[in-house]
Amino acid sequence: MKIIVAGREIDTQHFINNQRIGSATTFAAHSAITEEKLGDIARGTQTEVDLAVAAATAAFPAWAALGAKGRLPYLERLAHVIESRVEDLAAVETMNNGSLLEASRLRVMKRGAHNIHFFAQMALEMGSSWDTEAAKNAVNNVRYDPAGVTALITPWNAPFMLATWKVGPALAAGNTVVLKPAEWTPFTASLLADMVLDAGLPAGVFNVVQGIGAEAGAALVAHPDVKRISFTGSVPTAKKIALSAAQNLTPVSFELGGKSPFIVCADADFELALVNALDQYDNCGQVCLSGTRLLIEESIYDRFLSEFKTRAAKLKQGDPREADTIVGPLVTRTHLERVHGFVQRAVSAGAKLEFGGQVSPQLGGLYYQPTLFTNLPDGAEILSSEVFGPVLTMQKFSSEQELISLANNTEYGLAAMLFTKDAIKAERISSQLVAGTVWTNCFYVRDLSAPFGGSRASGIGREGGHWSFDFYCDIKNTVQRKGTFS
Ligand code: ADP
Repeated sequence: MKIIVAGREIDTQHFINNQRIGSATTFAAHSAITEEKLGDIARGTQTEVDLAVAAATAAFPAWAALGAKGRLPYLERLAHVIESRVEDLAAVETMNNGSLLEASRLRVMKRGAHNIHFFAQMALEMGSSWDTEAAKNAVNNVRYDPAGVTALITPWNAPFMLATWKVGPALAAGNTVVLKPAEWTPFTASLLADMVLDAGLPAGVFNVVQGIGAEAGAALVAHPDVKRISFTGSVPTAKKIALSAAQNLTPVSFELGGKSPFIVCADADFELALVNALDQYDNCGQVCLSGTRLLIEESIYDRFLSEFKTRAAKLKQGDPREADTIVGPLVTRTHLERVHGFVQRAVSAGAKLEFGGQVSPQLGGLYYQPTLFTNLPDGAEILSSEVFGPVLTMQKFSSEQELISLANNTEYGLAAMLFTKDAIKAERISSQLVAGTVWTNCFYVRDLSAPFGGSRASGIGREGGHWSFDFYCDIKNTVQRKGTFS
């Protein structure tokens, strides 16, 4: 079952045991740019999930036995194949979910290759050894043993990058993988399967089951032979997955939504803060990390709002394939209606719509305009619910105490951005913010060796660096008395 997307051939069947396998039924995926149907995709059920988990289970012992050094050449080949197909990946993903082509070509897809390379290298260094307290005369040897079959469930906003962010450490650690991509964005996972074949990975090490979340996804996370579940998506889905995982006591890693504060103190570099604030419309706001609540110190609030409005009006919205486009479309009509629902309810609740709040009259389609609300009533839904669209709020604060209380007044805790020139103040405020990541005078700076994840409803656990291996491995300590081996 092959289709053409953005001029590239894609097999839309599952990928199990290094073979393409179909299903009795299919589902359709569409283009965010044109809303046209791009093709039919195999609609996985329990049957295909069982096949994929069985293939991954069978492949596990040999893959694990290779050790990090033995796996390295396979994974380095995979990283190189990804590098060589960056243009294809970017073109397909942009046609599918509408993300900006230039960013994808120049950064996002390359990061996909780096995700594989980085964790393959890091796996070589995992494990440690040290003497126990001298009196006990023994040595601790800590090993990072692979856990088994991992179920990786990914979202539609950065499909390829987030798939490799999970696949990289899972495979490097010696696990095997069943990946279930989001049904709105199935194509780059299928391309990844082609690349796995090109890189010569043994059959069953990496598998893709396409399908609907409530069907294929639910069957996968409930499977008793799955040893780890890594999920990026929404809170309601995470709760369902947690219930399934509980039946088998399967460890989970969840990266969920956010309603992150973007804080600008009066002493901040005004221009730097402004440029970064406008960046919160990146990917048309479909970024879990976005600082969607702009919190501006009272003394600069009016000037910041006025400048923000002027600059936001100049953000070029349009076809994400054009190099000068800054804001593209939303992913699907279903999602657009959801985003617009939030906007309409915010207006009804009495919030002031400063700009946006509708589909661009010139562009139509899924091109929802960058939107800003001020004068927000206490308890307004728009201040607490994740919209996942180009919709920001702006509030003022007049003291640090008020700032902390506003910033933490959310059920989420994924990220926070803080702009100030005062290092001591930055430290004081950061220490009080509930967030997995606090970016000070910057945004989006991601280091693969750093922990990433959310507090509160934004997630469970951290991935990145050794935290990925902590999750994907069974950690074992072998304690050996010294001088007892001949
Ligand atoms: P969104 O609301 O942003 O689409 P979801 O959390 O529903 O986010 O989807 C994220 C991923 O979770 C997708 O791959 C989707 O198919 C999958 N998914 C949805 N429901 C379930 C479920 N019940 N069990 C497992 N995976 C699911």
